[in-house]
Amino acid sequence: MSFDAFGLHPQIVAGLKAQGYQTPTPIQKEAIAHVMAGKDVLGLAQTGTGKTAAFALPILQRLMTGPRGVVRALVVAPTRELAEQIRVVFSELGKGAGLRAASVYGGVSMGPQVQALRGRCEIVVACPGRLLDHMGQGTFSAKSVEVLVLDEADQMFDMGFLPSIRQILAKVPAQRQTLLFSATMPDQLRGLAHECLKNPVTVQVKHTEALTTVTHSLYPVVEHLKTPLLLELLKRIDSESVLVFTRTKHRAKRIADKVHEAGHASASLQGNLSQNRRKAALDGFRSGKVHVLVATDIAARGLDVSQISHVINYDITDTPEAYVHRIGRTGRAAKTGDAYTLVTGADADMIRVIERKLGKSIPRHTLEGFDYRAAPKPHGHSPSHGPQGTPAKHANPHRKFWRQRRRPR
Ligand code: AMP
Repeated sequence: MSFDAFGLHPQIVAGLKAQGYQTPTPIQKEAIAHVMAGKDVLGLAQTGTGKTAAFALPILQRLMTGPRGVVRALVVAPTRELAEQIRVVFSELGKGAGLRAASVYGGVSMGPQVQALRGRCEIVVACPGRLLDHMGQGTFSAKSVEVLVLDEADQMFDMGFLPSIRQILAKVPAQRQTLLFSATMPDQLRGLAHECLKNPVTVQVKHTEALTTVTHSLYPVVEHLKTPLLLELLKRIDSESVLVFTRTKHRAKRIADKVHEAGHASASLQGNLSQNRRKAALDGFRSGKVHVLVATDIAARGLDVSQISHVINYDITDTPEAYVHRIGRTGRAAKTGDAYTLVTGADADMIRVIERKLGKSIPRHTLEGFDYRAAPKPHGHSPSHGPQGTPAKHANPHRKFWRQRRRPR
């Protein structure tokens, strides 16, 4: 199937060509025709599947006819980075068609956003809190909105945005098309979907679909050797763009500092940073100035940096869904990637759950030449919180689990 099948306007096709998209991804194949037909859609897909274009293309097609200079499409997304990314997709695909998108999110001053909203734009991409601020002070009205997209709805739910979403829903015209995208569908979201979608068509791509181009590896290690192992891995990886995930903001900062001390151009991306510093970290990573970005899940949610070749989980995720989300940062669309996860004995149960979700076991690797027996350094050298001075052989209560399945590289 090619994009021709959708009968998109030539100016939008020009945008597609400029992006280098040749064939639709599975979610695009499934969703585009339904959205173009004006149906409400419940899209079950994670980032990395091409879901942004799956809603952006048919929305742009709709906007080719009808009034210009009024906001006719509103996209609500959980994080500033994701909102900015979606705006860029709309702007690039809609450039030839003269359709414009503005983004609206907190952490930066209202002034330029007010200007952008006052100017001529047909699409607004917003985070819930700041959108409500603009609505409240009268700098944005949703009265001409024809299409509403709620993107990464499960993440918005996790971040406590559900009441804000309900407030937004009350302010957009009841007569509209609604598209709700989510990687997972917890019960609480089902209620929201029921409230805001009318006779929706459900389209779904399998969770593992986006992962087919990714090679997964586990690196068993004791807690206090995680940082040295990470540094050794970075030394051996031939890549200019590595995304490292940690469990906490504090750890993201400390690991980024260690990576920097080891001579890599690194930055952290976490919620304790000001919006300007978050943007600087991300811009640096996108431009290639920053080679190693150390991030927390929330900060990196939905990030699309197409050149990421390696994702390293310094800390394993709490859920298999979160693992899939993280890994979705690499191997996106037509590219391939590597996903390394540092694991301690305490992670054995979560590994089993993740393997079940992926439907395959993940190979265990040891790094040749790395000293797995090194003792912990005194004075809290490692940012890990394992007990200081614990001998390696006692630090891993699941030694048998690892030994059975470990495969030297
Ligand atoms: P998304 O899931 O929307 O964040 O998109 C993931 C990545 O896939 C982005 O880098 C897009 O530019 C890319 N992409 C989306 N659709 C296509 C396509 N049909 N062909 C190739 N790449 C695509």
